[in-house]
Amino acid sequence: MTLDNQQDLINYELFINGNWTSARSNSRYTTENPYTQCAWATVPDGGAADVDLAVDAARAALMRGPWATLTNAGRAQLMRRLADLIERDHVYLGEIETRDNGKLLREMTSQMAYLPQWYRYFAGVAETLCGETIPSDRPNFFIYTRREPVGVVGAILPWNSPLLLLAWKLAPALAAGCTMVIKPSDYTPASTLEFAKLVEEAGFPPGVVNVVTGSGPEVGKALAGHPGIDKIAFTGSTSVGVQVGHAAIAQMTRMSLELGGKSAQVVFPDADLEATANGIIAGIFAATGQTCIAGSRLLVHESIHDELVQRVIDRARTIIMGDPAAPETEMGPVANRRQLESVMAMIDEAVSDGAIIAHGGQEDSILNGLFVPPTVLTNVHPGQHIAQEEVFGPVLAVTKFSTEDEAIRLANGTKYGLAAGVWTKDVQRAHRMAAALVAGTVWVNSYRAAGPGVPFGGFKMSGLGRENGRESVFEYVETKSVWIETTGATRDPFNIG
Ligand code: NAD
Repeated sequence: MTLDNQQDLINYELFINGNWTSARSNSRYTTENPYTQCAWATVPDGGAADVDLAVDAARAALMRGPWATLTNAGRAQLMRRLADLIERDHVYLGEIETRDNGKLLREMTSQMAYLPQWYRYFAGVAETLCGETIPSDRPNFFIYTRREPVGVVGAILPWNSPLLLLAWKLAPALAAGCTMVIKPSDYTPASTLEFAKLVEEAGFPPGVVNVVTGSGPEVGKALAGHPGIDKIAFTGSTSVGVQVGHAAIAQMTRMSLELGGKSAQVVFPDADLEATANGIIAGIFAATGQTCIAGSRLLVHESIHDELVQRVIDRARTIIMGDPAAPETEMGPVANRRQLESVMAMIDEAVSDGAIIAHGGQEDSILNGLFVPPTVLTNVHPGQHIAQEEVFGPVLAVTKFSTEDEAIRLANGTKYGLAAGVWTKDVQRAHRMAAALVAGTVWVNSYRAAGPGVPFGGFKMSGLGRENGRESVFEYVETKSVWIETTGATRDPFNIG
């Protein structure tokens, strides 16, 4: 399969109860390639009625039929089959993602090559998922716990890494025995619908995985407040996450929220500056800065500030912007016009607040598309908006510090707590900083690594709960305690136990 030279629009359908279907309203919308700014596919513009159907299908699959009676080993087998199919089609899936979100083809293809590992890892978790027997402190009871699926999961996703962030939810949910209704981002619906074809081919029973697309917040809102949803797994901005959380708690729906960040990269004078500059570039300019873990604040010791900033600018100058599908390209466009306008407005505001543009800063007129050049802002005061709020674009805010305590205070001085980087050769300092930083992930002398076995999530306003790692399966199970009386004796009805 290839997308080369594709002329006509590709038409996708919703995936509900194992059927490919149009939206109840029959309306459709087009999805655009952010590089060409041309529509390349049409998808159903779903709404609340489609969500109802998908939730009913997911409920039916959960309660009766083959999925409900499948053993953990049986679920693991299906997940491994799905992993093999993703592996087979990973290049195609990468092409689709690049078309929809404009990120580098080589990044998306390598992400897709890694993706099967999530389904394989959690297949192993499914096979070893078990309750426990608990010694009773009262005589003649046998007590054990059962790990039961939390139920029907509603997954709401952003556009930056559609299938990877879906795997962080779907793989543990399937391991636990849940069923799911997926709402991909309005901007990047296509890869999830392609993925659903692989779910079907792998032999998952109808209704286990359902996909409802839509052009606005409608579908997400319908899912978040739906009484038939048992758990919401959301990745997106903090502001929308808070709204989703309010809607969910009104139904006592369980939730995990993976939200925004303003992660700091903290650089001490003993750091290897070449490796550090490379790590700073990886943190903020890879993926055009459109990652939740973007290392968007550089906190650098005053003694090495000028040298490090110069190294970062020297490398930023050589970054090749252009067609995300071209192998030499290092930065593609931002994902949509709304994003471009928001990034440029934040740069302008930062300058009027006193920041200095040391590099970049202007919308790229030569490429004349949705391009923001790699931008380095120095003289950033820790209290100003650009140092406090997520940009979700290639904009680095640089602030100096003079002591380790000050560095910790600055790094922890935002409402977010998703990730942080520390650059030092001092092993004692590295461990002190790892403990002191209020962030779900701390990288030392590296940045932007993740894997299926390593918990990921945020402190503070960066989220609730953890994805990845063995323990994330517990976000998708309910624990039931079972007490078995072993003698048949009649007990005092007015005394506990
Ligand atoms: P967004 O919050 O605008 O949208 C996320 C999803 O929510 C989309 O599918 C959207 O259609 C849906 N939505 C919008 N309004 C809704 C509502 N009122 N109710 C229910 N659903 C609604 O985020 P985005 O712009 O797509 O993605 C970028 C954001 O995602 C950034 O803030 C980034 O930090 C965050 N993100 C976080 C992680 C993480 O793991 N912590 C990973 C990637 C992205």
